[in-house]
Parts: sequence; structure tokens; C-alpha cells
Amino acid sequence: MGKKSRKPNGRSRGGGRKVDAVVTAKTKDLLTNDEKIKKQYTDGTLTAKTLRIAVATALGVDEEGIKKTVKAAVLAYMDEHRHEENEAATQRESDARIQAEIEKLKAENAELRADEISRATARAKATAKATPHKGYAANPQFSKAISNLIETIGQNEEDVEDFKEFLNSIKRRHYPGPIECVETIASWPRLRKHWPRLRRRICSYCGKGTFDLSAPRLLVCGGCYQGRGVGRYCSEDCQREHWPEHQKACMKLHIAWPSKSERDAYLAPFMKDLRQCKEKGLTLEEYLALGGTEAERLRLARSGNA
Ligand SMILES: [Zn+2]
Ligand SMILES: [Zn+2]
Repeated sequence: MGKKSRKPNGRSRGGGRKVDAVVTAKTKDLLTNDEKIKKQYTDGTLTAKTLRIAVATALGVDEEGIKKTVKAAVLAYMDEHRHEENEAATQRESDARIQAEIEKLKAENAELRADEISRATARAKATAKATPHKGYAANPQFSKAISNLIETIGQNEEDVEDFKEFLNSIKRRHYPGPIECVETIASWPRLRKHWPRLRRRICSYCGKGTFDLSAPRLLVCGGCYQGRGVGRYCSEDCQREHWPEHQKACMKLHIAWPSKSERDAYLAPFMKDLRQCKEKGLTLEEYLALGGTEAERLRLARSGNA
């Protein structure tokens, strides 16, 4: 059966060379462009028979008759591409080596940083022990140790912005003593991955709050949206106290009045009311009950109804 070619000018009739050229070209074409063949060739599962059948089918010729030509064409193709393949393999190997080297350096770096942080923490704790409780925050040795600890932790570029926000949110926090202050700052490497959720549980003004994720979230400023810098408060008093500072960042204001001079003009009367609240020792609620009109507008603005 294999002896009779379906093509009129098959090998046996002397047109062999022309057919060979067509078969060779088709073999090369399939190896280069046929996704299935290409994949099998690359992962080493392509058999001579599969390729032969594919070539025969594509050309409508008998499979047996093209055996030699396909084989020769594959060998030529392999020869042509060996160089390319070797180069690609060498490239892959070197990429993998570089990647492994990078990973190793990263791991070493992380270890080194963890060491540095634990040393800075130990130094800060030793200083804290030697610092008198009274006025410890202003003690120069203690502030130096804290600055050093902050600088050491802050060297991690990946989370430096979150770390800044964390520090900002705990800057007015009251600690039982200097050790607790050190411990809170030093806890950042453990807290960092939970920060997007923890930040909702720390008061933007007094820094009171918990690192317990099951605790309820705090009040959110009505003008803010989400993410970094959102005002969150443990009480209305804290919200009021924080307003003069927070109004510089509060997004609602920035959208309504993009220029600083406009914002200042808009806020001036509120600032006056706030000062009066404070001078009279009243909460905003009490002040409103006594008829503070600008403050009422402010309250509305802050709760998102203005
Ligand atoms: Zn608070
Ligand atoms: Zn806000």
C-alpha cells in the first residue's frame, strides 16, 4: 500500500526533488508555526511519526513515502536551532541564578534589618529603664534612642509611608512609661501587614486604640474617604481637637475648595468657634446647644451633609 503515491509526480516517477523540497518546507513550516507541533518539539514529546502524519495530512501525500525527507528536514531544523536553543537555555539558567542570588540577598538583608531593629530596640529599652518616668518624653537620651529606633525601622522602603502614618497616629498616645512607648514603636514589624485594618482602630487625635483586629472600628470623619490619612476618632472631642490639623488633609474640603486661600476663608469662622468652644471649656454639642451658628455649619460639613 505504501508504494503507490497518491500524487502523480511522486518519488518513483522522477519528480522526487521537487516533492522533497515541498515536504522539507512544510516540515519546517509546521515546526515553526504549528502551535501543537511547536509545543511538542519544545518539550521533547514530538515523535517522528506524529510530525510525519502532520506533514502528510497537510500536503495530502502518503505518509510512508516522505519518511526520509521529513527525518532529514527535522535534523536540519534541529541543527539550525541548536545554537538558538543553547543560548536560550543559557539565558534561562543565568536568569534563574540571578533571581536566586537576589532572593538570597533579600533574605540576608531582611535578617540584617531584623537584627538591627532588635539591637536598636534593646538599646532604647535600656535607655528607657534608665530614664526617670517624669517627663520621659522630653528626656534627651530617651528621645535620641527613640529617634534611632524609628530611623532603623524606617529604613524599609516598602512600608515607609505606612510606618509614617502609624507613628503619626500614635504621637499623642499616653503610655504608662517609657518602656511601653518603645515597645509600641518596636511592634511595627509585627503589625505592618495588618496596618490597613489596624489603622481604623486608632484615634487620629489622641492615638488611643487597640491593635486587636476584633475590636470595633472608630468613628470616621465624614469628609474623608478611605486609605491613608483618613480621620478616625475615639470621641467627638478628639474629632474637634484634631480639626485644625486635619482640615489641612481632609479630602472633602480639598475637593470643594482646591485652593488653600479659599479653604482658609471658608474655615476662618469655624476656627473662631472652635477656639471659643475650647476657651469656654465646652464640647461642640454644648456649644451648639448654646446657639453657636458657625459651629453648626461645621458639624454639618463634617458629618457629610453640607
Ligand atoms: Zn481620641
Ligand atoms: Zn476628614
